[in-house]
Amino acid sequence: MRTPRRDDPDYQAARQRMVEHQLAARDITDQRVLAAMAAVPRELFVPDSLRHQAYTDGPLPIGEGQTISQPYIVAFMAQALDLAPQDRVLEVGTGSGYGAAVLALMAAEVITIERHRTLAERARATLREAGIENVTVITGDGSRGYSEKAPYDGIIVTAGGPRIPDSLRKQLASGGRLVMPVGSSRTLQTLVRLRRTESGFQEEPLVAVRFVPLVGKEGWGD
Ligand code: SAM
Repeated sequence: MRTPRRDDPDYQAARQRMVEHQLAARDITDQRVLAAMAAVPRELFVPDSLRHQAYTDGPLPIGEGQTISQPYIVAFMAQALDLAPQDRVLEVGTGSGYGAAVLALMAAEVITIERHRTLAERARATLREAGIENVTVITGDGSRGYSEKAPYDGIIVTAGGPRIPDSLRKQLASGGRLVMPVGSSRTLQTLVRLRRTESGFQEEPLVAVRFVPLVGKEGWGD
């Protein structure tokens, strides 16, 4: 596994506690997920004024009315994706870039797409600062996916939509997994896992969640 460049002993200890108390003590058992979450300096991905809260058990605001997700949810979704080291992943909803950084340590390549230009630019800079080189940040509407690099072995959507976009289904490789919050309300969803098989798709509900809305052509309207 590649290791991000910068680290600080105090944050490292806080991160280790997060992994033990918030992840392993719950139901995160995938050692690759636990190792990635123990390696990524989450404090780099939150606003400076909130760094002291970087390892608390919840989401934090990152600007533009958006959030960096709770560490447990990041781990849960990464575990549900069931990634292999050679996989290529699409993340819809870059936000701070933290989730992309975690996935980058578990997969070969991550393409992440964010509709807010300011967030995309900041995430790009933070990922560079963290020494993570296998993530490409795109600005645009990820509800339509990113066909230029399809198909993907894993697709993760970190914002809630009314349904799984057809474009994302089409961009999923055979054998690939997609994880996304889906719900008929803009704020309450069920996390769903979709697997593409040779004969079609298998869909499985995982857990109730609360995400910011997926705003775009194949998500909610603006
Ligand atoms: N993965 C992020 C992280 O680690 O910080 C958390 C993402 S936040 C919960 C959801 C993000 O999805 C927001 O930054 C939001 O702007 C973005 N988003 C919503 N609709 C989108 C769309 N259609 N395309 C791309 N990004 C979108």
